[in-house]
Amino acid sequence: MALTGGCYCGALRYEAAGDAMMKAQCHCRECQYFSGGGANYFMILPEDGFTYVKGTPAQFTRSDLDKPVTREFCPTCGTHILTRLPDRPLLVLKAGPLDDAAAGYGGPAMAIYTVDQQPFHLIAEGLPQFERLPPRG
Ligand SMILES: [Zn+2]
Ligand SMILES: [Zn+2]
Repeated sequence: MALTGGCYCGALRYEAAGDAMMKAQCHCRECQYFSGGGANYFMILPEDGFTYVKGTPAQFTRSDLDKPVTREFCPTCGTHILTRLPDRPLLVLKAGPLDDAAAGYGGPAMAIYTVDQQPFHLIAEGLPQFERLPPRG
């Protein structure tokens, strides 16, 4: 599947290919900062199918954690594009900046980190829920 997207101001544009290995909505405390307060909708893709075709993102990695993720966002408008995981060649691509999230993302297959769920967060009926991550299969 080919995906295109970019930030709110247009300084960053990207293309991504590859099948999503996981689609979820994350309720963790960290995601609430970047989502605006709700769950964060994302998909996990192989890193090698992704390229920025316009612009260079800013990066942020916490220095106080053992295995921190690296977050990439537009240095001009602040839109969060993706997160890079330590040790694994995978990207956590956010659904919001996709040009066509309805087609390219579709929807989450599970809700994760419900341990941090706020009282106003909604989870669709029947969607599998996990307090943290699903068990590895
Ligand atoms: Zn921007
Ligand atoms: Zn999260």
